[in-house]
Amino acid sequence: MRTFPPLDKAIACFSKLPGIGRRSAERMAMKLVSDQTGLLKDLITSLQGVDEKIGCCSRCGALTSRDEGPCRFCTDATRDGSLLCVVEEPSDVLQIENAGGYRGRYHVLRGKLSPMLGIGADQLRLEPLALRLKSEPIKEVILALNADVESDATASMIRDLLAGTAVKLTRPAMGIPAGSGIAYSDAVTLARAIGSRQPF
Ligand SMILES: [Zn+2]
Repeated sequence: MRTFPPLDKAIACFSKLPGIGRRSAERMAMKLVSDQTGLLKDLITSLQGVDEKIGCCSRCGALTSRDEGPCRFCTDATRDGSLLCVVEEPSDVLQIENAGGYRGRYHVLRGKLSPMLGIGADQLRLEPLALRLKSEPIKEVILALNADVESDATASMIRDLLAGTAVKLTRPAMGIPAGSGIAYSDAVTLARAIGSRQPF
């Protein structure tokens, strides 16, 4: 399908979203410009709100309101501060929360080691993790990373970071599909995998 230039940028942006191919992106853009119900305006307003109001928790890296200090996962006194679940992306936090059952805290790396994409240890939130291990009463780190080569390399690096400390390192039991990740695990399987974690 050929479009006209004013839509090209929107189509290119939509194509970058997970699960959206070029064809779907074109259909979305066409729908937005032909819709008569104010959908385009609503979308613009809601996205502006996201940009202005959503930030990253200074402690764990999860998504939070910009005007909030540390997020609700970090400040909720009923959560178990001795458990720290390390994930790659903020969306993984929501996935695990939606699965239910986990009541510890989180740490978001904001990526994983990827020589292909030029992402090294410096780009990940490892230093804040090391600081938290020193300043918080963490007894167990759960590596809820994805199931691929880069995630395995990231997990090994965190194991090195914890070497010589008394912190227990575990991984969720089976349930995270090989070659994919937390985002593709169904809620029941994910909750079970975290509940029956194994030493790493
Ligand atoms: Zn937080």
